[in-house]
Amino acid sequence: EPTAQTYKYESDITRLRSLVIHSLYSHKDVFLRELLSNANDALEKLRLTALTDREVMKSGEANVTIEVRLDEGGKTGQIVVRDTGIGMTKDELARNLGTIARSGTNEFLKKAEEGGGADGNLIGQFGLGFYSCFLVAPTVRVSSLPPTTSANPNPEQHTFVSTSSGDSFDIYLDPRGNTLGRGTEIVLEISEEEAEWLSVSRLKGLIDKHSQFATTFPMYIMERKTTKIPIPPPQSPEADGDPDELNDDVDKDEQTPKEEEFETKVEEEWVQVNDKAPIWMRDPKDVPEDEYRQFYKAVAKDQSAETLGWAHFKGDTGAGVSYRAIMYIPSKLPTDFWQKITSGINNVRLMVKRVFITDDLGEEYMPRWLSFLKVTVDADDLPLNVSRETLQTNKFISQLQRILIRKAIDLFSRLAGEDPTVYKEVSKLYGNALRIGMLESKKDKVKIAKLLRFESTRSDFTSLEEYVENRKEGQKQIYFMAGVGEQPKDLARSPFVEKLKARGYEVLLLNLPSDEPMMGALDNFMGMKTQDVSKKGLKYGDEDEDEAEKKELEAQKIAFAPLIEWLKKELKSDISDVILTNRLVTSPCTIVVDSYGWSANMAKIMSAQAD
Ligand code: ADP
Ligand code: MG
Repeated sequence: EPTAQTYKYESDITRLRSLVIHSLYSHKDVFLRELLSNANDALEKLRLTALTDREVMKSGEANVTIEVRLDEGGKTGQIVVRDTGIGMTKDELARNLGTIARSGTNEFLKKAEEGGGADGNLIGQFGLGFYSCFLVAPTVRVSSLPPTTSANPNPEQHTFVSTSSGDSFDIYLDPRGNTLGRGTEIVLEISEEEAEWLSVSRLKGLIDKHSQFATTFPMYIMERKTTKIPIPPPQSPEADGDPDELNDDVDKDEQTPKEEEFETKVEEEWVQVNDKAPIWMRDPKDVPEDEYRQFYKAVAKDQSAETLGWAHFKGDTGAGVSYRAIMYIPSKLPTDFWQKITSGINNVRLMVKRVFITDDLGEEYMPRWLSFLKVTVDADDLPLNVSRETLQTNKFISQLQRILIRKAIDLFSRLAGEDPTVYKEVSKLYGNALRIGMLESKKDKVKIAKLLRFESTRSDFTSLEEYVENRKEGQKQIYFMAGVGEQPKDLARSPFVEKLKARGYEVLLLNLPSDEPMMGALDNFMGMKTQDVSKKGLKYGDEDEDEAEKKELEAQKIAFAPLIEWLKKELKSDISDVILTNRLVTSPCTIVVDSYGWSANMAKIMSAQAD
């Protein structure tokens, strides 16, 4: 027995492990997904380390692979998952598997204890995936050997052992020596009750279901093939080495083997389980819808994740760099949506020739307002050791933002045309983001404006283009009424709106914080100006035709002159002007703001922000 050092789990880990085990009781199959995802992460880390430290790949192990096999051992058998990735030192084994100095854990505890942990998707998101192996294995052994690096020139293989129930774990120097070459091997000793997992076809099924897209590194499973091999007949000394062909033929006929002269032999064979080209490399015609949806779950690292739509495209920059990409719209707002928008963090994963390079591309590559999109980009002919600095000077990469914006706008307009139900959802979730995009990008202002949808006095889902199509003869302004957080039906009852409605004009009813600045920025849409109906400057297109009304107004101006004079005098310190209007139908008077001042709505926003 090797001398082991015993460590106590941090007290929260004990709590977490039992919580993971209990909340996932009916989702035990996630264990394999989590182990494979860790194996992939370890290989990606190795690749990245190798870019800056050439020693790394020299450490006796050239392969970058993941292997899964069944083995004998324990009470019923064991599942072994092995990768040739970055590995862990003794300290890292203790720290990574035994402590929870990782962010998000407390949040997980809170959510899981509130009952949210039961769907099996929380653990992966909160960095607790490893503990899921205790769902099926009462004992787990992790052996690991980090690569040879300049910082660690003589790495040694260590093994971590833990049972599912104890409050401690052991780590010892592996008495077998550095047998792994490099990487990590996880041995799950499966319990008798969980023996169902000890089946290659079962494990292959799990990989198909959860991990098809988990990695672009080759992933193998060991299959055992039983073959029957004829036992060679005992040969007579004369026949042996006899060059006479005729004699040979005679011998064969005489010695046809009988049934009992076969022996069964078990052959082990590594079979690659992810040998299909990754989904983004395939022709969109050959990819069924379901596979896109499955791939999205892998991208989102969440089995329950759904998408509202995607674009799968390829291109060539002309400068010799070709790329392929898939872009998804999530069906739910991420919890950190606004945080991402303000911090400029996005969801673009850059790969070069199938190898993951970085997901840390800043907003030069994806504008903030589109940071919610989940994008995988794979470029050929880029140097594999692209660093952040060289990224900027690369032609393709410097064009990436333009490409992604254009494709995103195309994707939105396609969905708008194809599927109104889906597009309603898109507008509801991302309407604010689109409005911000419109405000931020002069270049795409009008294109983005076309993607926006509004409620109006005519429709509960209309676009600016439709508005313009439905305009009344002579109408030169796009009328809108804004009130942050107000119900559109209440906005419609405003005295500002009623006169326009009575005259048969459509008024957009806007209630998002970004609506008013957005309308202000949109000074010209298809030849029309936008007009806040609560501000001065409103013009009817039919004014000239309505001679009678004009005459009446003239007459009223004279009749009401004394009242107006009196009001001006009385309210001198509070208002800038009093004017006679024909805008109102049932209300006797209203207060409006000057066309250059803030509307009441905008003033409300500004004072709320000042608080
Ligand atoms: P997460 O993967 O989200 O960080 P896990 O609980 O799945 O959380 O894994 C915990 C940590 O253990 C990982 O962050 C990693 O540092 C380490 N780890 C797990 N599996 C491996 C592995 N196969 N190779 C190297 N490190 C690993
Ligand atoms: Mg993990």
